[in-house]
Amino acid sequence: MTYRAPLADIGVALKYAAALPAAIDEGLFGDLTMDDVDAVLAEAGRFAGEVIAPLNRVGDTYGTPFAHGVVTTPPGWKEAYAGWRDGGWNGLAAPAEWGGQALPQIVNAACTEMWHAASMAFADGPMLTMGAIDALQAHGSEALKRSYLRKMVSGEWTATMQLTEPQAGSDVGALRTRAERAGDGSYRLKGQKIFITYGEHDLTDNIIHLVLARLPDAPPGTRGISLFLVPKFLLNADGSLGARNDVRAHSVEHKLGIHGSPTCTMIFGDQAGAVGYLVGEENAGMACMFTMMNRARLAVGLQGVGVAECATQQALGFARERRQGRSAGMKAVESAPIIAHPDVRRMLLSMRALTGAARAICYATAIALDRAERGADETARKTAHERASLLTPVAKAFSTDIGIEVASLGVQVHGGMGYIEETGAAQLYRDARIAAIYEGTSGIQAIDLVTRKLPLAGGAAVGAHVKELRGIVEAVEASNDPAFGWTPVRLEDAVESLARATEWMLGRRGNEADAALAGASPYLRLFGLATGGCLLANEALAALRLGEEAAPRVALARFFAENFSVQAGGLERTIVEGAPGLLGADAALTLP
Ligand SMILES: Cc1cc2nc3c(=O)[nH]c(=O)nc-3n(C[C@H](O)[C@H](O)[C@H](O)COP(=O)(O)OP(=O)(O)OC[C@H]3O[C@@H](n4cnc5c(N)ncnc54)[C@H](O)[C@@H]3O)c2cc1C
Repeated sequence: MTYRAPLADIGVALKYAAALPAAIDEGLFGDLTMDDVDAVLAEAGRFAGEVIAPLNRVGDTYGTPFAHGVVTTPPGWKEAYAGWRDGGWNGLAAPAEWGGQALPQIVNAACTEMWHAASMAFADGPMLTMGAIDALQAHGSEALKRSYLRKMVSGEWTATMQLTEPQAGSDVGALRTRAERAGDGSYRLKGQKIFITYGEHDLTDNIIHLVLARLPDAPPGTRGISLFLVPKFLLNADGSLGARNDVRAHSVEHKLGIHGSPTCTMIFGDQAGAVGYLVGEENAGMACMFTMMNRARLAVGLQGVGVAECATQQALGFARERRQGRSAGMKAVESAPIIAHPDVRRMLLSMRALTGAARAICYATAIALDRAERGADETARKTAHERASLLTPVAKAFSTDIGIEVASLGVQVHGGMGYIEETGAAQLYRDARIAAIYEGTSGIQAIDLVTRKLPLAGGAAVGAHVKELRGIVEAVEASNDPAFGWTPVRLEDAVESLARATEWMLGRRGNEADAALAGASPYLRLFGLATGGCLLANEALAALRLGEEAAPRVALARFFAENFSVQAGGLERTIVEGAPGLLGADAALTLP
């Protein structure tokens, strides 16, 4: 499968959707320069395109065979992983103290997009390891950090994130894996986890599991969950690998996509119990896990962007080669490349525009994470933290939904060949599907946005966001550039629909709360369309100002505003009229 890193598009999103140069000028990242960033991205693009992308197809066809407790990764993956580790990619944004490069989250986000575009299945393992590094760095004891972090940062060991059990999926509080105090400061875990990504594999000689479990005297629900570090191999006093811990993979799932990513059922405590070490405080595991999940949610959003980008590139290449039918004025014996047909161009433009909008939202989220970490003062960090919290569910759900839609359009552009496996379009569609499910489904993200994120700071976080979008609309209006067409009008409508729908959401209390839940998914979509449209327009305005590739960027922003942001009004009605109506429509489910 071929993939060429879209460095120009990534650069534009970094500069104008995320305003990275301004953050650099403010001194947030020490002596880092845009030239340094460009050099990192160019090398990441080369590694993604030349080393990872060629492995994507073999990962899909070979899968991850499981025998006698051992998972074998596809041919060539071990070598590629060694290259990944030696290139230092695992520790790009990790603390320098543990061997990382401490680069901004936004730079890591751009690289993450490229890894996932090249192969979601390959990049899944490192993605979770990076999240585990964040959780351990934020909540682990000094002893745990000293023992594990350096090798996780280097990529010598990978990590997993273990929440899910048969009865505990979206409802994490229902988990039953038990942890007992061993009396020596460690714990013994017994139980079963399902669907664990890279729970077992042959890429590294140790795997560090971060596992949620419940102490015997824990309160029920999420307030009674603790986080434990459970290594596959215990460590000797000198840090070398010791005895095998009492944890094993029981099986590997057969699934729709990401066949190269082993999804394991894990068994803890066949014998005396798996040795685990507490991360953070007892019964405070959910807060620790959220550190990991929030980073992973952005990274999964970037899977959506990556897979959409790859699907767009493939569809464009195919549409330029495949000849069918004639365009106006052609002779009867001639045939046109399908890209000449307006309906095919509509599909290709939709793919490009949706991908660009999702990228802009994800990068805006990543820079907010950087500002939350490194902002000049407490107030700046708090405001940025609220903005990152607000945008994270949108980055995750909107972008992964876009990943599926764009990959589906990619199949459509290929016609029958898209349904046949050899073009790779079908694999992208199958792979993209999981991203809207794991790390919290799109539905759960929408509920998070509506119930927890909109009320943040008394509504000030979302208020500031709407104000920013209005500022972009005014700038587009002020440009008076006819090339924007209906863009300012459509964007203004979209932003005002978002503002009204937000007010409506914030007003649903008490016995009206269910109406907000019923409207949560369309609200998140509206949020994404209004925000994505404005961020694309902002990129176009910057291109006009600087005279860089202005015409294509304006055309893309205009296409998005006129074809997608225009849907905002319908979504507003779906929310304020359709959602309360939905609650009374249950009778329709009783039809035979
Ligand atoms: C390939 C793969 C890899 C995975 N990797 C990991 C991993 O590494 N670690 C890990 O811990 N887990 C992992 N998972 C599990 C994944 O996170 C869960 O599948 C996901 O969170 C959804 O849980 P569930 O499957 O139990 O679905 P359910 O929770 O049963 O949800 C079913 C449907 O109901 C909806 N729903 C559920 N509750 C509500 C509610 N309160 N309000 C509204 N709608 C609701 C959901 O949105 C969904 O549409 C993985 C899963 C897969 C398939």
